[in-house]
Amino acid sequence: MESVKLPDKLCLKNTRLIDPVQNLDQTGDLVIENGKISAVNAGCSGARVWDMNGAIVCPGFFDIHVHLREPGFEDAETIRSGQEAAGGGGFTAVACMPNTMPALDHAGVVRWVSEEAAKFPVAVHPIAAITKQRAGEELTEMVELHKAGAVAFSDDGGYVENSDLMRRALEYSLLTNAPIITHAEDFKLTGSGVMHEGAVSTRLGLAGIPRLSEDIATVRDLMLAEYTGGRLHLAHVSTEGALRALEDAVKRGAKVTAEVTPHHLLLTDKAVQGYSTYTKMKPPLREESDTKALIAGLKNRSFAAIATDHAPHTSDLKEVPFDEAAFGIIGLETAVGLIWDKLVMTEQITASYMVNLFCAGPREIVNLPVPAIKVGEAVELTVFHPDEKWTVDTAEFYSKSNNSPYAGWELTGRPWGILKGSLWAGRIQPGF
Ligand SMILES: [Zn+2]
Repeated sequence: MESVKLPDKLCLKNTRLIDPVQNLDQTGDLVIENGKISAVNAGCSGARVWDMNGAIVCPGFFDIHVHLREPGFEDAETIRSGQEAAGGGGFTAVACMPNTMPALDHAGVVRWVSEEAAKFPVAVHPIAAITKQRAGEELTEMVELHKAGAVAFSDDGGYVENSDLMRRALEYSLLTNAPIITHAEDFKLTGSGVMHEGAVSTRLGLAGIPRLSEDIATVRDLMLAEYTGGRLHLAHVSTEGALRALEDAVKRGAKVTAEVTPHHLLLTDKAVQGYSTYTKMKPPLREESDTKALIAGLKNRSFAAIATDHAPHTSDLKEVPFDEAAFGIIGLETAVGLIWDKLVMTEQITASYMVNLFCAGPREIVNLPVPAIKVGEAVELTVFHPDEKWTVDTAEFYSKSNNSPYAGWELTGRPWGILKGSLWAGRIQPGF
């Protein structure tokens, strides 16, 4: 995917403009000049016109949880291919996890990621490691990493088992105001588990991961956050128990936020029944009681963000027996279509709230400015069509990997691309 320069004065006509922060949701038009919004609903005179055919234009989406695999695992994804997958999926920005090789645990590599990412209009905000080499033994130089551009800290993929280290990491978050993102998993309780522990794992003869593995790890981190006053963010909450613990901690005043993934909202362990390794991830797909609780949590604003946990893997890590396969699935190019089709069209959440969960919600967690549809604002917009019907075909993905459980799904609502400054990047070329 190449980005394309916009006409000097461009009018997006026949759009549905949604910006929850401005309380805006109406059909209209938008004029862009020199990378800035110069008119909203004031007509198209003097501008080159793109007829958007009713596409939704909203402030740019931000995925707070992706794995870009570079440096170290470029066969699965690179910074550029991940940016293209993001642009094609309607995201103007992502935050990338530090489990690369080398890990994002020193300022030089954090700066390098930002420099690489500057070549394409999808912003990449590095999340630095909490501990050196994510080994769980020694804290990274968090203040220096924050100055180098890290927006948060996480040992994602691993859990900081040493409670004293986690306590000190949370104390550092008081200095940087950057959250500590926890992958809450008690690895002793996970043991050799490869899917959710329950009736389905028993029937399939696969070792299970109990909910307790996530619940106990979550509760410890919530207690540390409350004790220190530090900023904690829960990655990929998948159990009703972890959600309840979060809600209770918030009621008590803890500074904690949380994200939920499309797959934990929409899929259960029944999806594992065909032994597809594209249904293997951490935390694992749970049961219907969990998905129901998570959707209720989404509706009552317990979650500030929907995040994909985009985790590309090459076929040699996935085209193997279930027990041996790597954990993780890709998500950047399906998230918007899935949430639109399964939650907005079914009227479980509004379009405006979906935009909030993909835009302002996740940015506020990591203190990033929120783009807006307002005269004078720099252009950072997502474009997707709410009525476009499509069948998920991983061969069309910009991601280098194809480990998606949604291949063959028929969805309504599809991203077209993004506008950033004076550039367009997306699945469709401008002019349409
Ligand atoms: Zn994780």
